[in-house]
Amino acid sequence: MTDARWTRRAALFALASAPLAAPLMASAEVFAGHYDLHAEPVADGVWVVRGADAAIGFANGGAIANATILAATDTDKGAILIDCGPSLAYARALSALARRLTGGPVRRVFITHLHPDHAMGAAGFAPDQIAALPETTRELGRDGTGFSDAMYRLLADWMKGTTLVMPGLTVAPGPMVVGGRRLTAVALAGHSDGDLALLDEATGTLITGDLVFHNRAPATPDANLARWRDSLTTLTQIPHRRLIPGHGPVDPTDSAIAQTRDWLDWLEGALRTAVIDGLDMGEAGEIAIPPRFADVAMARYELQRSVVHFYPRLEAELLPRVGG
Ligand SMILES: [Zn+2]
Repeated sequence: MTDARWTRRAALFALASAPLAAPLMASAEVFAGHYDLHAEPVADGVWVVRGADAAIGFANGGAIANATILAATDTDKGAILIDCGPSLAYARALSALARRLTGGPVRRVFITHLHPDHAMGAAGFAPDQIAALPETTRELGRDGTGFSDAMYRLLADWMKGTTLVMPGLTVAPGPMVVGGRRLTAVALAGHSDGDLALLDEATGTLITGDLVFHNRAPATPDANLARWRDSLTTLTQIPHRRLIPGHGPVDPTDSAIAQTRDWLDWLEGALRTAVIDGLDMGEAGEIAIPPRFADVAMARYELQRSVVHFYPRLEAELLPRVGG
């Protein structure tokens, strides 16, 4: 960590805090960098800590992604985490919760993909505890500092002490045993360049990271929709009894994969139609969302973000070039 970066971070921190100084101080005793995390039992030795079905914001401290806790089953008690939240304070709260549930320390942290709501809690662990796909480590190297700056700007005090800690372990696809638990790692992509899914063999619990969103609209800032669809097909071919999505409730009925695909298909078709019909980006963000997505949280918000991500590329592809 260079001095220059700390200076920049400090400047951003001050900038983010200044206009809100009074409310921040007033609410400091309420939040005090403390996340009130709750574990929902999912299966034997498996818990999910649900994120808020909302955008990253000061009100939720960035705790919008799901984190999964697995209990080690070998003689040393402890926990395996899959994703670790947005900040050092979250990681500490998650570790304390995992210790209460499993009777031991965190022994391994898997990071499903680069996004900061899943990955920046790595600040609470040592590199040799943290495992990710090689693509994810590469993407964190590219984007991690920018994410960190943005998170400090949005979340101010919630991010206190959070530094970018890179995964020190590389996940190879296939079966492995961690803390006595048999896991199968599946290396996928499409939500980002590296999306890790893990199957807990004992319980048939499939943990998908952000390849699957459930009753919460998918986020697409780094998406490749064709690869994402291929990954969803792969996930349907993995026998499982329940699925823990990256966002939204646990799916016991095997409907969340299809719902995610349905949204991506609709989104791409709707945006292509909007470009061909000559809508501008503002208008495209206001198109009707089909009633079947009425119960999908954050639908309008993610549609508008997706317009920003995809519209320039679609216009370049679909609109004739003047004089071309
Ligand atoms: Zn994500």
